[in-house]
Amino acid sequence: MAKLCIIREINSAHGKHIHGHTFKIEIDFQDKLVDNMVGNLDFHIIEPKIDEVISILDKKYLDEFITPRATIENIAIYIIKNLQEFDNLYSVKVWEGPTKYVEIFKEEIE
Ligand SMILES: [Zn+2]
Repeated sequence: MAKLCIIREINSAHGKHIHGHTFKIEIDFQDKLVDNMVGNLDFHIIEPKIDEVISILDKKYLDEFITPRATIENIAIYIIKNLQEFDNLYSVKVWEGPTKYVEIFKEEIE
């Protein structure tokens, strides 16, 4: 098995007492190594789709569309649901500041 990870950052707000974070987001794909590539993953296909989802989340008040609350768990679940088309999506990590993150596995969401 092999893993491929795409990392992005968003600067957004959340919470009942609105406050902002730089959330780091790590999107992990896992697949067999085929011809020295991770599955059939093509950066040119994955990255524009990821950036589409990221741009929805960046510079926003996340609780407006991640309900009932934009916790880092629910942010990760939102991202997974919007990347369902990728069979080899493995997990999404969302960091809230430098000291904590959640990692949600796609298989938990299906
Ligand atoms: Zn917070």
